[in-house]
Amino acid sequence: MDRRTFNLGLGAAMSASLAPTASRSQAAAAYTGPNVILVRFGGGVRRAETIEEATTYAPYLRHVLANRGVFIPDMRIAQLDGVETSHAEGTLNLLTGRYLAYRDAGSGFLQDRLEPTEPTLFEYLREAFDVPSHQALLINGEDRPQEEFFTYGVADHYGIAYRSEMLSLHRFKLYKFAQIIAEGTADEATLEDARTQYAALMEADPRAIAPGQSPEVTAFWQRWRGHYGDDGFRNPRGDALLTALATRALRELRPRLMMVNYQDPDYVHWGNPSHYTRAIQVIDDGLQRLVETVEADPVYRDNTVFVITPDCGRDANPLMDVPFQHHFNSRAAHEIWAVIFGAGVERNRILDRPVDQSAIAPTIAALMGFRANRAEGDVLSGIFA
Ligand SMILES: [Zn+2]
Repeated sequence: MDRRTFNLGLGAAMSASLAPTASRSQAAAAYTGPNVILVRFGGGVRRAETIEEATTYAPYLRHVLANRGVFIPDMRIAQLDGVETSHAEGTLNLLTGRYLAYRDAGSGFLQDRLEPTEPTLFEYLREAFDVPSHQALLINGEDRPQEEFFTYGVADHYGIAYRSEMLSLHRFKLYKFAQIIAEGTADEATLEDARTQYAALMEADPRAIAPGQSPEVTAFWQRWRGHYGDDGFRNPRGDALLTALATRALRELRPRLMMVNYQDPDYVHWGNPSHYTRAIQVIDDGLQRLVETVEADPVYRDNTVFVITPDCGRDANPLMDVPFQHHFNSRAAHEIWAVIFGAGVERNRILDRPVDQSAIAPTIAALMGFRANRAEGDVLSGIFA
């Protein structure tokens, strides 16, 4: 592996010392490049259950998608002091193209509440091109309000003005309870419940985000509520919910860059391996639905790149009391992979050398025609057709 020296821990300090740059003076160009769908095959997965041909629980990924583009079987999370192989950390490595580019955003009762200290792909894209916030989308899991913090970093020059928008059950509930309160037509018990729940949701992410949610995303939730109603029993749950949100978003919001943060293999923390393998199958089904949605849509067909990669690996130690963990910094927890295919990407190629996780962000940037200039990873320019 290319042993480059990363600026460990210096991210926050360095970005704070960058001279603030004047905001964009002229209108940015319209974006005409390929659409990118970044799929976090998340919750931490091992190669054995995902990309090993004989033992995969993700046959669509392994037997169909891997052949369509560039398959990188030996992607790795660098072994560096302080680098945690976990979900928020891995996700921010993917979004910033470097390690340790995050800080604790205030712990409270939430864990893994990290916010980026370096620009994310969303910010680079929206600074370089005239892409509205609802077309730079993060699709997040059901019970992970801590991932609300990924939509923008705290780096000077970038930040909230270039944030992504987020679709998650958390966001929907915020919309729904606010609506119920505003409508005021429900019975008193329902109204009281809505007020309590709304306050609890606000407490989970008390940042006053301005500008707020765009009208396009509000209209998305209005249609979602019309379709699934208020009781919460009719919409899909878990990672199937993310697939539903993502496919609906493709049709209704037309994102140019969308990250889908699957997470359910992480239920194996509870100790039941079948939860883990079943969750991998659910993500594999989700991938198939996403790809079919793109292929059925003239706006996306032939003009979209998929980048599929895990946030982190998992232990392969058979002697562990609870198998498949990822917090012990073992070699296997650093072992991931990537599958990249679509417009402008070579087909049917195996990139058979070690590639670092930090390559994902700068490579997506190059595909989309901007530079992730604070990223430290390599651009995999050899994969472009
Ligand atoms: Zn975990």
